[in-house]
Order: sequence, then structure tokens, then C-alpha cells
Amino acid sequence: MKIESSLCDICGTCAGVCPVDAIRIFEFKVEIDNEKCIDCKNCLIICPAEAIKEEK
Ligand code: SF4
Ligand code: SF4
Repeated sequence: MKIESSLCDICGTCAGVCPVDAIRIFEFKVEIDNEKCIDCKNCLIICPAEAIKEEK
């Protein structure tokens, strides 16, 4: 997963639904740790800004 930072408003919603705590919220950006991510797609589905994309 990757986050399109230009779309993300840093609401933090995605981090709350990640079962493996792979999403970290910083003051000015949100990052996904793809080493931890299990591709459950919870974050992709819940993001109100549609800022999370599947990384090919
Ligand atoms: S849910 Fe979407 S808009 Fe909110 S912090 Fe996560 S990526 Fe950004
Ligand atoms: S796809 Fe699932 S495991 Fe990966 S970052 Fe999103 S919520 Fe977390």
C-alpha cells in the first residue's frame, strides 16, 4: 500500500483500522510500513480521501 500524500489530510482513520499497526501518523505525513503490511485493504477501504493506493 502507498499513500498519496497530496490527497491525505492526515485524519488518522486508516491507522485505527490496521490490524498490524503498519500505519504511522506524523505531524505532516502518514506512512505505511510495507514490511509489516499484510494487504488486508482495511485502510484502502476506509480512507475518506481515497488517498491509499495498492502498490504494484
Ligand atoms: S485515512 Fe486517508 S486521509 Fe486519513 S490519514 Fe489515512 S491516508 Fe490520510
Ligand atoms: S492494507 Fe491492512 S495491513 Fe496494510 S497498512 Fe492497510 S490496514 Fe494495515
